[in-house]
Amino acid sequence: MGTIRLPPRREEALASFKKGDCIITFAVASLFTGEPNERLRTNVLCLLGTHIHYTRGMHNLCIGVRTMRVANLTAQAFYEDEGKILSAVYFQGCNKDCKWCHNPELKPMGGGIEKTPEEIFSEITKGNFLSDGVLLSGGEPTIQKGIVELCCHFVGIGWRVVLNTNGSMPGVIDNLPEGMKVTLDVKTPKKDYGMDSGTIDFCIQALQRFNESEIRITWSPSYLTEANVIEMVRWIRSINKESPIYLQPYKWTTKMPGVPFIQPNKEQVAALIKRVQESTGHLMKTRYV
Ligand code: SF4
Repeated sequence: MGTIRLPPRREEALASFKKGDCIITFAVASLFTGEPNERLRTNVLCLLGTHIHYTRGMHNLCIGVRTMRVANLTAQAFYEDEGKILSAVYFQGCNKDCKWCHNPELKPMGGGIEKTPEEIFSEITKGNFLSDGVLLSGGEPTIQKGIVELCCHFVGIGWRVVLNTNGSMPGVIDNLPEGMKVTLDVKTPKKDYGMDSGTIDFCIQALQRFNESEIRITWSPSYLTEANVIEMVRWIRSINKESPIYLQPYKWTTKMPGVPFIQPNKEQVAALIKRVQESTGHLMKTRYV
């Protein structure tokens, strides 16, 4: 084996190793650097596809077993996305605290059951003849160590993978395999992201490299004005010309603490979409949750 090289881009990494070299290079690189190289490890798993059991031995040796906190796992299909029937995994824990969160019980970092990516993959796929794919949601799935390899497992067997994210983990988004769908919630105008505005900028742009993507704005007049939504669409379109942008009306559920926000009706949603189109030239889609 020659010099250890850690290429900065996935394409370079994939081009620079022969299949047999990857495991050795990964193991030695991990020992030399003393820490896992996330991008290289991901590339190894993506490249080897079904030879996961062999790489798992190396991976455990070098960086230890990884577990993910699962709140709810529905192996039998229940969710429909673009004509495909999906199983679902809801992860426990979120790094945001949105007051309009539909799954507030999934915000705390503790709780749930710890599983490895391989255990989740096995539980979802074993004996499952109904599903065409899997929804990965939460909570925030990208804060779970092992989410990239879990996505690689599913993409590797040709399943549809749909991952919902709040866009707080750009390094993870950058490492997800292209052959999946990523949906990104944009919560507020850019200025309100403050120190995180570069992070969300990166994620909005990064969405364009996936097979499918969408950006969602959850709207209630209680926390986003019409001007706010117009400003958000302008900002998103200035850095991402491809991903469809959805306006999702906020809907209260009994799980939500505190006083409900205003719930826009269909006429208000249609009126806002019309005003956004007049101001920005962009026609938003809509979805009712
Ligand atoms: S980012 Fe999503 S899961 Fe997290 S608190 Fe906000 S709405 Fe809930």
